Amino acid sequence: MADSRAVTLLGSYGLFSGLVLLVVARPELGTAALPACGLCLLWSDLRKDGESPVVLTFLATVVGAVLMARSEAARPALAAGVASLWLLAGAQAAHRGRQFRDEREMLLEQMNLQDQIRDDDRDLKYYRSYEETVGVDTRLRRDLSDAAKSLSGTMDGREVQARLIAILADRFPAARVTVTGAAAEDPLLLAAQRRRGPVLIKDARQEQQVVPGARFVSGVAIPLKVMRQAAGFVKLESDEAGAFGPDEVRTADLFATMASLSLENIRLYESVHRQATHDSLTQLHSHRAFQQRLQEEVLRAGRSQTPLALIMLDVDHFKRYNDSFGHQAGDQLLRTLAAILGSFARPVDFVARYGGEEFAIILPNFVRTEAVSLAERVRARVAQEPFTFNGAPTRATMSLGVAAFPTDATTPSQLVRVADERLYRAKHGGRNQVVG
Ligand code: GH3
Ligand code: MG
Ligand code: MG
Repeated sequence: MADSRAVTLLGSYGLFSGLVLLVVARPELGTAALPACGLCLLWSDLRKDGESPVVLTFLATVVGAVLMARSEAARPALAAGVASLWLLAGAQAAHRGRQFRDEREMLLEQMNLQDQIRDDDRDLKYYRSYEETVGVDTRLRRDLSDAAKSLSGTMDGREVQARLIAILADRFPAARVTVTGAAAEDPLLLAAQRRRGPVLIKDARQEQQVVPGARFVSGVAIPLKVMRQAAGFVKLESDEAGAFGPDEVRTADLFATMASLSLENIRLYESVHRQATHDSLTQLHSHRAFQQRLQEEVLRAGRSQTPLALIMLDVDHFKRYNDSFGHQAGDQLLRTLAAILGSFARPVDFVARYGGEEFAIILPNFVRTEAVSLAERVRARVAQEPFTFNGAPTRATMSLGVAAFPTDATTPSQLVRVADERLYRAKHGGRNQVVG
């Protein structure tokens, strides 16, 4: 640019100086020199020089004034020439001004456009990040809903753990995922147990005081809480530093909470089921569970043509026992009797509290004589049991009635009735005996 300006200045001022020298040498050419000065003006203007046209107009005016002073005859022509030069300079300045305004407007418009492009770029970036966030959220929501279905679709606690591992392994493919029942000696799990919440280790090498001797570089531990108690732990481990951050912990915690809820549901279901099928005092099966099981066992025995026996047992003079030692001693006696009956039962047998101080034992695959022999052993064992209450020994006996399928009865109600009748006979026969 500096070169171009030098050419303009040298060119226009050189030409002008040449014209002045020519006029000095040949004054009669003075009137022709002013239009030639106009050419200099035009040329410097064309080359976009802002100052030269003004300076040259001024110098040409001075030259014109000098020539006018020297030649009276050429004065009008020279005055017209100077006036034309000023008109030309004025027109050029007006043209320049307009051009300058146009350029400025164009520049402003360009700047506005650039601002707009910048704004649009920013908006685009924002929408892209928004789209990404929405995408991540949608995936998380879908995974959570799938996990909720999967985790609540089983009534087996082990299966819940296995499904939780599968879900987390799918979500964190680079991590080792484990679910354990107890913290044991694991420092990461112990830290989660102490904190009663998730623990994040970004780099185990920097956090030796929290996880001494860790066999991972980064890890997360989350307690699985069931009924507000730690019922296990979820552990994510990686050999890379910083593999997990707060977002990962939050996500894993969400899935772990879902698994905890499922485990809690299973626990609640099991407890409600147990209450419905078990007697709360003795923990034996309830009357209802007994009726159902007896029905099933009779059907099975009928189908497989195998024998089945039933023993009905009743505590002798239990009312008297209660009156002598108190109701609590009576309860204690029932609990001890339940434990004794349980100790005689095989895994296939079914011991129930039939009601009050009456019990029943279903014995699959037992013929009547086998059941009578077992009943006799139970009777003898009860009769010699000290039943210590508050440090003092007490005595109790039982009467037992035995009935067998299919020899005595072929339906569940007949079987109960026959066993009950024999139990009644045992009472009338003097109690503390077996009738079969
Ligand atoms: P029997 O030898 O003829 O069977 O006489 P019994 O006294 O054992 O029979 P009865 O049917 O007259 O009395 C049963 C008693 O069992 C009455 C009741 O207070 C008592 N009993 C029933 N359920 C419970 C219980 O859960 N706890 C206690 N402590 N007593 C109970
Ligand atoms: Mg009784
Ligand atoms: Mg009774």
